[in-house]
Amino acid sequence: MCGIIGYLGYREAYPILINGLKKLEYRGYDSSGIAIFYKNGYSLCKTKGRVYELERKIYYDKVKISGTTGIGHTRWATHGVPNDINAHPHVSNSNDLIMIHNGIIENYHAIKIILSKNGFTFKSKTDTEVLINFIEFLRKENKFSLEEAVRISLNEIVGAYSIAVVDKYYPDKIIIAKLGSPLALGINEKEFFIASDPIPFVDYTNNALYLKDGEMAILKKGKELDLRKIVDNHKLHPIIKKLKINLKQIEKGKYKYFMLKEIHEQPKTILDTLRGRLLISECGMIYIDGIESNKDIFINAKCITIVACGTSWHASLIGEYLLEEFARIPVEVEYASEFRYRNPIIGKKNVIIVISQSGETADTLSALKLAKKKGAFVFGICNVVGSSIARIVDAGAYTHAGPEIGVASTKSFTAQITVLVLLALKIGKYRSTINDYRYKCLCQELRSIPEKIDHVLKTDNSIREISKIYHNVNNFLYLGRGINFPVALEGALKLKEISYIHAEGYPAAEMKHGPIALIDENMPVVIIAIKKGFYDKIVGNIQEIKARKGKVIAIVNEGDIQVSMLADHVIKIPYLSEELSPLVTVIPLQLLAYQIACIRGENVDQPRNLAKSVTVE
Ligand code: GLU
Repeated sequence: MCGIIGYLGYREAYPILINGLKKLEYRGYDSSGIAIFYKNGYSLCKTKGRVYELERKIYYDKVKISGTTGIGHTRWATHGVPNDINAHPHVSNSNDLIMIHNGIIENYHAIKIILSKNGFTFKSKTDTEVLINFIEFLRKENKFSLEEAVRISLNEIVGAYSIAVVDKYYPDKIIIAKLGSPLALGINEKEFFIASDPIPFVDYTNNALYLKDGEMAILKKGKELDLRKIVDNHKLHPIIKKLKINLKQIEKGKYKYFMLKEIHEQPKTILDTLRGRLLISECGMIYIDGIESNKDIFINAKCITIVACGTSWHASLIGEYLLEEFARIPVEVEYASEFRYRNPIIGKKNVIIVISQSGETADTLSALKLAKKKGAFVFGICNVVGSSIARIVDAGAYTHAGPEIGVASTKSFTAQITVLVLLALKIGKYRSTINDYRYKCLCQELRSIPEKIDHVLKTDNSIREISKIYHNVNNFLYLGRGINFPVALEGALKLKEISYIHAEGYPAAEMKHGPIALIDENMPVVIIAIKKGFYDKIVGNIQEIKARKGKVIAIVNEGDIQVSMLADHVIKIPYLSEELSPLVTVIPLQLLAYQIACIRGENVDQPRNLAKSVTVE
């Protein structure tokens, strides 16, 4: 999730770009860069770090910043670590074409191979540099105009993008296009403003056009906007709207808190996690670079230890179920803080997976260093590209969930599970411990998860009604069985973190070994009771709770009858395989915690005593 910005008009572009980038930093701040165009040339400056560092570099390097056309970028890395070279804008081999990009080009690798065979070279590790060179290649091979080369190239790529492209010989023209990533255009009589959201240009204009997926526009100085369909170049009539915006609100979209925004982003973030890994053309093909290149290590692994903290530890427990089920490798899950201090028995044959959203979690980092010292092979699952953990591991996979600002983790959790599903299926396939039919069915079903989550997000109003009834209680119990036991733990953690209500997660059958003593008419029990996986046993557990007058809030499948008759409240979710169910069963639990905390008037995004990234022991 990067921020992109552009200007084409009669004013000096630099202040518009630099101030705009500062307003877009909430979308990422790994690196930033700008390109300003003048007759037959341009000046480019980019650097790792935040926009103020770019400003400083421009000042000290005396970069020429005068010009009335420019583009800029603030990066949240997906391909290639955050450094100066991977920073945008990217330039084509001839130095003629300059591009900024927000999104992921899934098939960049295949295109890169073709381009390399045709003599192209690459400075960065980004997918973006591949795209700008692909445009250059098509333009030169076919003598296309720039707009035609951009359009044809976009029809060949798979992925998500909002882009802006400039040819240095035509500084009066910018081509923009969008698919899956946001792109807003501000329009005045003689000028255009381009940005990921309208905040950077509301001071200049309130005429805006939000490009739709599959649209591109050719912007020319002093000319009318030329809007086209990418697929067939069909000319479109632009519908320009008047902006009415509350600046503060834009970063959060229509949501009151980042946490709610991030909960609602999950259909998109899971798609982003799957991008380029679950290959669309060949259904059932999973490709993860870090596994592919270490195939033998995973095939021969005698056991796997997953090390993490907090929410990532819950995702790890789900990973244990998945890896044991599909790959048939024994898995242990450890708290990083325990692992690092207890002289664990690991050596050269061991595979360790470390999971951390930030990639900076101090305990996980130390556990990883210890594992490496003992000679283990360490695979990392992180969200932040180029983070400390990502740099030290032997191999890994990023979750691509975008920046997570709410302290209570939500979208990272489901992104981590998505990576673990892919990992377990892929290793299972290598080891032939999963049959082809099941493998294909699950791959196919994975694709339907975003839609199913979308469906569950619509139950928010009924979850709010339930929250109104229970927001004043002191204790909650969360129960689940099998792969949904860690989801119960995660549901309880979410509630504790942001509402300060004491909550415990238990495997449902364990209830009778202690927690059942707590149950009375004041005790709400949230129980995951989906059809697949121990349904009859769960029905029995619910009866035990009801016999003690406990209040049952059950997560059930649509069409459920038995549990729905017993429970006080039901939240319905679509039917899905047990192995993939945590990706969906956790959604109502996130919403429940959120709604309860809101009703209690808590600061959901910054709960007391907690920090987003725990960089201390
Ligand atoms: N894939 C591009 C990069 O890594 C853009 C990243 C993004 O928009 O998140 O540079």
